Amino acid sequence: MEKLQVYKFGGASVKDAAAILNLCRIVRDFGPQGPLVIVVSAMGKTTNALEEIYDLAYRGADYSAQLMALEDYHRREFVAICAQLPPGPARPPEDAETTDLESGFADMRQAFQRAAAFNDYDEGYDQLVSYGERLSSYLVSSALMRMFPGGKVQPFGAYAMIKTDKTWREAKVDWPVTERQTQHLVSMLLDGADIVVTEGFVGNAAKFGETTPGQVTTLGREGSDYTAAILAYCLRAESVTIWKDVAGLLNADPKIFPDTVRYPEISYRETIEMAYYGASVIHPKTLKPLADRNIPLRVKSFLDPAAEGTLIHDCQHPALAPAFIRKTDQCLLSFASKDFSFISEENLAVIFAALAQAKLKINVMQNSAISFSVCTDFVERRVHQLLDLLREQFTLHYNTGVQLFTIKNYDAASIAQLTAGKRLLLEQRTRSTFQFVCQA
Ligand code: ASP
Ligand code: MG
Repeated sequence: MEKLQVYKFGGASVKDAAAILNLCRIVRDFGPQGPLVIVVSAMGKTTNALEEIYDLAYRGADYSAQLMALEDYHRREFVAICAQLPPGPARPPEDAETTDLESGFADMRQAFQRAAAFNDYDEGYDQLVSYGERLSSYLVSSALMRMFPGGKVQPFGAYAMIKTDKTWREAKVDWPVTERQTQHLVSMLLDGADIVVTEGFVGNAAKFGETTPGQVTTLGREGSDYTAAILAYCLRAESVTIWKDVAGLLNADPKIFPDTVRYPEISYRETIEMAYYGASVIHPKTLKPLADRNIPLRVKSFLDPAAEGTLIHDCQHPALAPAFIRKTDQCLLSFASKDFSFISEENLAVIFAALAQAKLKINVMQNSAISFSVCTDFVERRVHQLLDLLREQFTLHYNTGVQLFTIKNYDAASIAQLTAGKRLLLEQRTRSTFQFVCQA
Protein backbone atom coordinates (compact mmCIF):
# COMPACT_ATOMS: atom_id res chain seq x y z
CA MET A 1 0.00 0.00 0.00
CA GLU A 2 1.22 3.50 -0.77
CA LYS A 3 1.95 5.62 2.28
CA LEU A 4 -1.15 7.24 3.59
CA GLN A 5 -1.85 10.79 4.49
CA VAL A 6 -4.05 12.16 7.24
CA TYR A 7 -6.20 15.28 6.87
CA LYS A 8 -7.90 16.93 9.81
CA PHE A 9 -10.81 19.29 9.30
CA GLY A 10 -11.81 21.39 12.31
CA GLY A 11 -15.19 22.80 13.29
CA ALA A 12 -15.03 25.89 11.07
CA SER A 13 -14.21 23.80 7.99
CA VAL A 14 -17.35 21.66 8.43
CA LYS A 15 -19.66 24.30 9.88
CA ASP A 16 -22.34 24.08 7.18
CA ALA A 17 -23.17 22.52 3.82
CA ALA A 18 -21.05 25.05 1.91
CA ALA A 19 -18.04 24.31 4.12
CA ILE A 20 -18.50 20.54 3.74
CA LEU A 21 -18.76 20.91 -0.04
CA ASN A 22 -15.54 22.94 0.07
CA LEU A 23 -13.94 20.09 2.01
CA CYS A 24 -15.03 17.66 -0.72
CA ARG A 25 -13.48 19.89 -3.38
CA ILE A 26 -10.21 20.15 -1.43
CA VAL A 27 -10.05 16.36 -1.27
CA ARG A 28 -10.84 16.10 -4.99
CA ASP A 29 -8.51 18.83 -6.22
CA PHE A 30 -5.68 18.81 -3.70
CA GLY A 31 -5.95 15.35 -2.14
CA PRO A 32 -3.21 12.76 -2.42
CA GLN A 33 -3.00 10.03 -5.06
CA GLY A 34 -2.64 7.43 -2.34
CA PRO A 35 -4.90 6.53 0.60
CA LEU A 36 -6.28 9.24 2.85
CA VAL A 37 -7.68 9.22 6.38
CA ILE A 38 -9.91 12.19 7.19
CA VAL A 39 -10.50 13.19 10.81
CA VAL A 40 -13.37 15.58 11.46
CA SER A 41 -14.40 17.80 14.35
CA ALA A 42 -17.96 18.58 15.33
CA MET A 43 -19.68 21.11 13.08
CA GLY A 44 -19.08 24.76 13.95
CA LYS A 45 -19.79 25.47 17.60
CA THR A 46 -21.61 22.18 18.21
CA THR A 47 -19.34 21.09 21.05
CA ASN A 48 -20.05 24.29 22.96
CA ALA A 49 -23.78 23.78 22.39
CA LEU A 50 -23.56 20.17 23.58
CA GLU A 51 -21.69 21.26 26.69
CA GLU A 52 -24.53 23.64 27.53
CA ILE A 53 -27.20 21.04 26.80
CA TYR A 54 -25.40 18.46 28.91
CA ASP A 55 -25.08 20.92 31.74
CA LEU A 56 -28.85 21.49 31.72
CA ALA A 57 -29.62 17.78 31.37
CA TYR A 58 -27.29 16.86 34.20
CA ARG A 59 -29.00 19.33 36.50
CA GLY A 60 -32.40 18.02 35.48
CA ALA A 61 -33.31 21.30 33.73
CA ASP A 62 -35.18 21.54 30.45
CA TYR A 63 -32.87 21.32 27.46
CA SER A 64 -35.33 20.24 24.77
CA ALA A 65 -35.35 23.51 22.79
CA GLN A 66 -31.56 23.62 22.55
CA LEU A 67 -31.30 19.97 21.57
CA MET A 68 -33.98 20.41 18.94
CA ALA A 69 -32.13 23.44 17.53
CA LEU A 70 -28.95 21.38 17.29
CA GLU A 71 -30.77 18.58 15.46
CA ASP A 72 -32.39 21.07 13.12
CA TYR A 73 -29.03 22.58 12.30
CA HIS A 74 -27.58 19.20 11.31
CA ARG A 75 -30.75 18.21 9.44
CA ARG A 76 -30.83 21.45 7.48
CA GLU A 77 -27.18 21.22 6.41
CA PHE A 78 -27.59 17.56 5.52
CA VAL A 79 -30.53 18.35 3.25
CA ALA A 80 -28.52 21.16 1.65
CA ILE A 81 -25.62 18.78 0.97
CA CYS A 82 -27.94 16.19 -0.58
CA ALA A 83 -29.49 18.87 -2.77
CA GLN A 84 -26.10 19.77 -4.19
CA LEU A 85 -24.41 16.42 -4.56
CA PRO A 86 -26.49 13.87 -6.40
CA PRO A 87 -26.20 10.32 -5.11
CA GLY A 88 -23.84 8.23 -7.21
CA PRO A 89 -25.03 4.97 -8.79
CA ALA A 90 -23.72 2.87 -5.92
CA ARG A 91 -25.19 5.03 -3.18
CA PRO A 92 -28.12 4.02 -1.00
CA PRO A 93 -31.22 6.09 -1.71
CA GLU A 94 -31.49 9.38 0.12
CA ASP A 95 -34.29 8.24 2.41
CA ALA A 96 -31.96 5.53 3.75
CA GLU A 97 -29.35 8.15 4.61
CA THR A 98 -31.99 10.36 6.18
CA THR A 99 -33.23 7.44 8.25
CA ASP A 100 -29.68 6.87 9.50
CA LEU A 101 -29.37 10.50 10.50
CA GLU A 102 -32.75 10.43 12.24
CA SER A 103 -31.83 7.30 14.15
CA GLY A 104 -28.61 9.07 15.19
CA PHE A 105 -30.74 11.88 16.61
CA ALA A 106 -33.06 9.43 18.37
CA ASP A 107 -30.05 7.74 19.90
CA MET A 108 -28.68 11.08 21.09
CA ARG A 109 -32.06 12.09 22.56
CA GLN A 110 -32.25 8.86 24.53
CA ALA A 111 -28.71 9.29 25.76
CA PHE A 112 -29.51 12.78 27.03
CA GLN A 113 -32.49 11.43 28.95
CA ARG A 114 -30.03 9.40 30.99
CA ALA A 115 -27.67 12.34 31.59
CA ALA A 116 -28.76 13.04 35.16
CA ALA A 117 -28.08 9.43 36.14
CA PHE A 118 -24.31 9.76 35.88
CA ASN A 119 -22.62 10.07 39.24
CA ASP A 120 -19.52 11.45 37.69
CA TYR A 121 -20.19 14.65 35.74
CA ASP A 122 -17.12 14.17 33.56
CA GLU A 123 -18.03 10.59 32.65
CA GLY A 124 -21.48 11.69 31.44
CA TYR A 125 -19.86 14.57 29.58
CA ASP A 126 -17.83 12.20 27.43
CA GLN A 127 -20.84 10.03 26.58
CA LEU A 128 -22.90 12.99 25.43
CA VAL A 129 -20.65 15.76 24.21
CA SER A 130 -19.01 13.28 21.83
CA TYR A 131 -22.21 13.21 19.73
CA GLY A 132 -20.99 16.27 17.85
CA GLU A 133 -18.23 14.33 16.13
CA ARG A 134 -20.48 11.33 15.48
CA LEU A 135 -22.94 13.55 13.62
CA SER A 136 -20.39 15.55 11.68
CA SER A 137 -18.54 12.46 10.50
CA TYR A 138 -21.85 11.13 9.23
CA LEU A 139 -22.52 14.29 7.23
CA VAL A 140 -18.98 14.51 5.89
CA SER A 141 -18.78 10.85 4.89
CA SER A 142 -22.21 11.08 3.23
CA ALA A 143 -21.03 14.08 1.22
CA LEU A 144 -17.76 12.43 0.23
CA MET A 145 -19.53 9.22 -0.76
CA ARG A 146 -21.66 11.25 -3.11
CA MET A 147 -18.61 12.98 -4.53
CA PHE A 148 -16.61 9.74 -4.89
CA PRO A 149 -19.07 6.93 -5.53
CA GLY A 150 -18.23 3.26 -5.90
CA GLY A 151 -17.18 2.35 -2.38
CA LYS A 152 -14.11 4.58 -2.42
CA VAL A 153 -15.15 6.34 0.79
CA GLN A 154 -15.77 4.43 4.02
CA PRO A 155 -16.73 5.79 7.43
CA PHE A 156 -15.03 4.11 10.36
CA GLY A 157 -15.72 4.82 14.03
CA ALA A 158 -12.82 6.14 16.05
CA TYR A 159 -14.03 4.12 19.06
CA ALA A 160 -13.08 0.98 17.24
CA MET A 161 -9.52 2.24 17.06
CA ILE A 162 -8.57 4.63 19.80
CA LYS A 163 -8.28 2.84 23.11
CA THR A 164 -7.92 4.97 26.21
CA ASP A 165 -8.09 4.83 29.96
CA LYS A 166 -11.00 6.37 31.85
CA THR A 167 -9.56 9.79 32.52
CA TRP A 168 -12.81 11.37 31.41
CA ARG A 169 -12.46 14.50 29.27
CA GLU A 170 -8.69 14.08 29.05
CA ALA A 171 -8.36 10.40 28.25
CA LYS A 172 -4.90 8.87 27.95
CA VAL A 173 -4.21 6.73 24.94
CA ASP A 174 -3.27 3.08 25.24
CA TRP A 175 -0.73 3.11 22.43
CA PRO A 176 -0.05 -0.61 21.86
CA VAL A 177 -3.75 -1.51 21.69
CA THR A 178 -4.55 1.53 19.56
CA GLU A 179 -1.73 0.69 17.19
CA ARG A 180 -3.10 -2.84 16.83
CA GLN A 181 -6.69 -1.73 16.37
CA THR A 182 -5.87 0.83 13.70
CA GLN A 183 -4.71 -1.99 11.47
CA HIS A 184 -8.40 -2.58 10.61
CA LEU A 185 -8.28 0.70 8.89
CA VAL A 186 -5.32 -0.46 6.81
CA SER A 187 -7.27 -3.52 5.69
CA MET A 188 -10.15 -1.27 4.63
CA LEU A 189 -7.77 0.80 2.59
CA LEU A 190 -6.28 -2.34 1.05
CA ASP A 191 -9.79 -3.54 0.29
CA GLY A 192 -10.39 -0.73 -2.18
CA ALA A 193 -11.39 2.23 -0.03
CA ASP A 194 -9.30 5.29 -0.89
CA ILE A 195 -10.66 7.51 1.83
CA VAL A 196 -11.65 6.65 5.39
CA VAL A 197 -13.58 9.22 7.43
CA THR A 198 -13.46 9.11 11.21
CA GLU A 199 -14.37 11.25 14.23
CA GLY A 200 -11.81 13.31 16.03
CA PHE A 201 -11.86 13.92 19.79
CA VAL A 202 -13.29 10.55 20.87
CA GLY A 203 -11.87 7.32 22.17
CA ASN A 204 -13.14 4.21 23.87
CA ALA A 205 -12.37 2.85 27.31
CA ALA A 206 -14.43 -0.34 27.07
CA LYS A 207 -12.64 -3.53 28.00
CA PHE A 208 -12.02 -6.01 25.23
CA GLY A 209 -15.30 -7.59 24.14
CA GLU A 210 -17.37 -5.20 26.28
CA THR A 211 -20.12 -3.60 24.27
CA THR A 212 -22.11 -1.75 26.90
CA PRO A 213 -22.52 1.93 26.12
CA GLY A 214 -21.11 4.49 28.47
CA GLN A 215 -17.47 3.90 27.72
CA VAL A 216 -16.85 6.70 25.28
CA THR A 217 -14.03 8.99 26.25
CA THR A 218 -12.84 12.33 24.91
CA LEU A 219 -9.30 13.54 24.46
CA GLY A 220 -9.75 17.13 25.68
CA ARG A 221 -11.24 20.18 24.01
CA GLU A 222 -9.87 20.75 20.54
CA GLY A 223 -8.62 17.17 20.68
CA SER A 224 -9.32 16.29 17.05
CA ASP A 225 -5.83 17.40 16.07
CA TYR A 226 -4.54 14.87 18.53
CA THR A 227 -6.71 12.15 16.97
CA ALA A 228 -5.10 12.92 13.61
CA ALA A 229 -1.65 12.61 15.17
CA ILE A 230 -2.52 9.36 16.96
CA LEU A 231 -3.71 7.77 13.73
CA ALA A 232 -0.74 9.12 11.78
CA TYR A 233 1.65 7.69 14.35
CA CYS A 234 -0.01 4.28 14.44
CA LEU A 235 -0.29 4.04 10.67
CA ARG A 236 3.16 5.53 10.04
CA ALA A 237 1.59 8.12 7.79
CA GLU A 238 3.59 10.13 5.32
CA SER A 239 2.21 13.45 6.59
CA VAL A 240 -0.64 15.15 8.42
CA THR A 241 -2.44 18.25 7.15
CA ILE A 242 -4.59 20.35 9.45
CA TRP A 243 -6.99 22.55 7.44
CA LYS A 244 -7.79 25.80 9.22
CA ASP A 245 -9.35 29.19 8.62
CA VAL A 246 -5.96 30.89 8.90
CA ALA A 247 -3.05 30.94 6.44
CA GLY A 248 -0.86 28.64 8.52
CA LEU A 249 0.90 28.82 11.86
CA LEU A 250 0.95 32.51 12.74
CA ASN A 251 2.86 34.34 15.45
CA ALA A 252 -0.46 35.34 17.05
CA ASP A 253 -4.18 34.81 16.71
CA PRO A 254 -5.29 37.36 14.09
CA LYS A 255 -8.64 37.72 15.88
CA ILE A 256 -6.80 39.16 18.88
CA PHE A 257 -3.58 40.72 17.63
CA PRO A 258 -3.09 42.95 14.57
CA ASP A 259 -0.28 42.47 12.04
CA THR A 260 0.41 38.78 12.39
CA VAL A 261 3.12 36.99 10.46
CA ARG A 262 3.08 33.41 9.19
CA TYR A 263 5.94 31.02 9.89
CA PRO A 264 6.59 29.21 6.59
CA GLU A 265 8.63 26.55 8.36
CA ILE A 266 9.08 25.79 12.04
CA SER A 267 10.47 23.00 14.20
CA TYR A 268 8.40 20.57 16.26
CA ARG A 269 10.00 21.89 19.39
CA GLU A 270 9.07 25.53 18.87
CA THR A 271 5.53 24.52 17.95
CA ILE A 272 5.14 22.26 20.98
CA GLU A 273 6.15 25.13 23.23
CA MET A 274 3.73 27.55 21.56
CA ALA A 275 0.89 25.06 21.86
CA TYR A 276 1.78 24.47 25.49
CA TYR A 277 1.54 28.17 26.26
CA GLY A 278 -1.90 28.25 24.68
CA ALA A 279 -1.47 29.11 21.01
CA SER A 280 -4.82 27.86 19.85
CA VAL A 281 -3.70 26.74 16.44
CA ILE A 282 -2.76 23.19 17.41
CA HIS A 283 -3.74 20.96 20.31
CA PRO A 284 -0.64 20.64 22.53
CA LYS A 285 -0.54 16.84 22.54
CA THR A 286 -0.48 16.67 18.75
CA LEU A 287 3.19 17.24 18.14
CA LYS A 288 4.88 14.56 20.20
CA PRO A 289 3.58 11.48 18.34
CA LEU A 290 4.44 13.16 15.06
CA ALA A 291 7.92 14.15 16.19
CA ASP A 292 8.50 10.61 17.50
CA ARG A 293 7.99 9.17 14.04
CA ASN A 294 9.27 12.17 12.15
CA ILE A 295 5.96 12.78 10.40
CA PRO A 296 5.69 16.30 8.98
CA LEU A 297 2.65 18.39 9.87
CA ARG A 298 1.24 20.95 7.46
CA VAL A 299 -1.13 23.69 8.53
CA LYS A 300 -3.07 25.00 5.55
CA SER A 301 -6.00 27.28 4.88
CA PHE A 302 -9.21 25.66 3.69
CA LEU A 303 -10.13 29.06 2.27
CA ASP A 304 -7.02 29.15 0.09
CA PRO A 305 -5.93 25.54 -0.35
CA ALA A 306 -3.33 26.30 -3.01
CA ALA A 307 -1.39 28.60 -0.64
CA GLU A 308 1.77 27.32 1.00
CA GLY A 309 0.73 27.29 4.68
CA THR A 310 3.23 26.18 7.32
CA LEU A 311 5.42 23.11 7.41
CA ILE A 312 6.22 21.83 10.89
CA HIS A 313 9.01 19.29 10.94
CA ASP A 314 12.47 18.53 12.22
CA CYS A 315 14.42 21.55 10.99
CA GLN A 316 16.78 24.35 11.95
CA HIS A 317 15.67 27.87 11.35
CA PRO A 318 16.87 31.38 12.12
CA ALA A 319 15.43 33.29 15.10
CA LEU A 320 11.67 33.53 14.86
CA ALA A 321 9.47 36.59 15.12
CA PRO A 322 8.12 36.88 18.69
CA ALA A 323 4.94 34.86 19.23
CA PHE A 324 2.09 36.38 21.27
CA ILE A 325 -0.24 34.06 23.12
CA ARG A 326 -3.22 34.96 25.29
CA LYS A 327 -5.16 32.68 27.61
CA THR A 328 -8.41 34.11 28.85
CA ASP A 329 -10.68 32.97 31.68
CA GLN A 330 -7.84 32.40 34.03
CA CYS A 331 -7.80 32.24 37.80
CA LEU A 332 -4.83 33.47 39.82
CA LEU A 333 -4.66 31.69 43.17
CA SER A 334 -2.29 32.46 46.03
CA PHE A 335 -1.70 30.22 49.00
CA ALA A 336 -0.02 31.53 52.13
CA SER A 337 0.85 29.37 55.08
CA LYS A 338 -1.36 30.32 58.04
CA ASP A 339 1.42 30.47 60.59
CA PHE A 340 3.72 32.67 58.47
CA SER A 341 6.08 29.77 58.05
CA PHE A 342 7.91 29.59 54.75
CA ILE A 343 6.44 27.80 51.78
CA SER A 344 8.32 24.55 52.16
CA GLU A 345 8.59 21.47 49.98
CA GLU A 346 6.03 19.81 52.27
CA ASN A 347 3.56 22.65 51.75
CA LEU A 348 4.14 22.60 48.02
CA ALA A 349 3.57 18.86 47.91
CA VAL A 350 0.16 19.36 49.57
CA ILE A 351 -0.77 22.11 47.10
CA PHE A 352 0.32 20.09 44.07
CA ALA A 353 -1.58 17.03 45.25
CA ALA A 354 -4.74 19.11 45.69
CA LEU A 355 -4.32 20.66 42.24
CA ALA A 356 -4.01 17.18 40.73
CA GLN A 357 -7.04 15.95 42.65
CA ALA A 358 -9.12 18.89 41.44
CA LYS A 359 -7.78 18.28 37.91
CA LEU A 360 -6.45 21.80 37.58
CA LYS A 361 -3.44 22.38 35.39
CA ILE A 362 -0.86 24.96 36.29
CA ASN A 363 -0.33 27.46 33.51
CA VAL A 364 2.23 29.47 35.43
CA MET A 365 3.47 29.41 39.03
CA GLN A 366 5.59 31.54 41.30
CA ASN A 367 6.98 31.04 44.74
CA SER A 368 7.83 33.62 47.39
CA ALA A 369 8.77 33.29 51.05
CA ILE A 370 5.35 32.84 52.54
CA SER A 371 3.10 32.46 49.57
CA PHE A 372 2.82 30.44 46.41
CA SER A 373 0.81 31.54 43.36
CA VAL A 374 -0.56 29.57 40.44
CA CYS A 375 -2.52 30.58 37.41
CA THR A 376 -4.96 27.97 36.10
CA ASP A 377 -7.90 27.85 33.74
CA PHE A 378 -10.98 28.97 35.64
CA VAL A 379 -13.23 25.92 35.88
CA GLU A 380 -15.46 27.03 38.70
CA ARG A 381 -16.35 23.61 40.08
CA ARG A 382 -12.73 22.53 40.14
CA VAL A 383 -11.45 25.74 41.69
CA HIS A 384 -14.00 25.40 44.51
CA GLN A 385 -12.97 21.81 45.06
CA LEU A 386 -9.35 22.98 45.32
CA LEU A 387 -10.23 25.71 47.80
CA ASP A 388 -12.15 23.22 49.92
CA LEU A 389 -9.15 20.92 49.97
CA LEU A 390 -6.70 23.61 51.06
CA ARG A 391 -8.72 26.05 53.15
CA GLU A 392 -7.79 24.54 56.46
CA GLN A 393 -4.07 24.66 55.93
CA PHE A 394 -3.59 27.87 53.94
CA THR A 395 -4.86 31.40 53.66
CA LEU A 396 -6.21 31.66 50.16
CA HIS A 397 -6.67 34.54 47.76
CA TYR A 398 -7.86 34.33 44.23
CA ASN A 399 -8.69 36.59 41.31
CA THR A 400 -10.92 35.37 38.55
CA GLY A 401 -11.41 36.92 35.13
CA VAL A 402 -7.69 37.42 34.62
CA GLN A 403 -5.64 36.79 31.50
CA LEU A 404 -2.30 35.14 30.98
CA PHE A 405 -0.07 36.47 28.23
CA THR A 406 3.04 34.77 26.93
CA ILE A 407 5.60 36.17 24.54
CA LYS A 408 7.82 33.49 23.14
CA ASN A 409 11.16 34.66 21.70
CA TYR A 410 10.53 38.09 23.22
CA ASP A 411 12.51 41.28 22.80
CA ALA A 412 12.25 44.63 24.57
CA ALA A 413 9.92 46.07 21.95
CA SER A 414 7.46 43.18 22.11
CA ILE A 415 7.29 43.36 25.91
CA ALA A 416 6.72 47.12 25.84
CA GLN A 417 4.04 46.73 23.21
CA LEU A 418 2.08 44.05 25.05
CA THR A 419 2.33 45.33 28.62
CA ALA A 420 1.46 48.94 27.78
CA GLY A 421 -1.47 50.16 29.88
CA LYS A 422 -1.91 46.87 31.76
CA ARG A 423 -1.66 46.30 35.50
CA LEU A 424 0.42 43.17 35.97
CA LEU A 425 -0.48 40.86 38.84
CA LEU A 426 2.38 38.45 38.22
CA GLU A 427 5.31 38.49 35.87
CA GLN A 428 7.96 35.98 34.95
CA ARG A 429 10.75 35.73 32.46
CA THR A 430 13.01 32.93 31.26
CA ARG A 431 15.59 33.01 28.51
CA SER A 432 13.01 32.55 25.78
CA THR A 433 9.64 33.45 27.30
CA PHE A 434 8.08 36.39 29.04
CA GLN A 435 4.77 35.76 30.83
CA PHE A 436 2.42 37.92 32.82
CA VAL A 437 -0.99 37.76 34.38
CA CYS A 438 -3.22 40.83 34.33
CA GLN A 439 -6.81 41.82 34.90
CA ALA A 440 -8.89 41.34 31.75
N1 ASP B 1 -15.18 19.29 18.81
C1 ASP B 1 -14.18 19.30 19.84
C2 ASP B 1 -14.02 20.70 20.37
O1 ASP B 1 -14.60 21.62 19.83
C3 ASP B 1 -12.89 18.73 19.40
C4 ASP B 1 -12.21 19.49 18.30
O2 ASP B 1 -12.84 20.29 17.62
O3 ASP B 1 -11.03 19.30 18.08
O4 ASP B 1 -13.32 20.88 21.32
MG1 MG C 1 -12.47 22.74 16.92
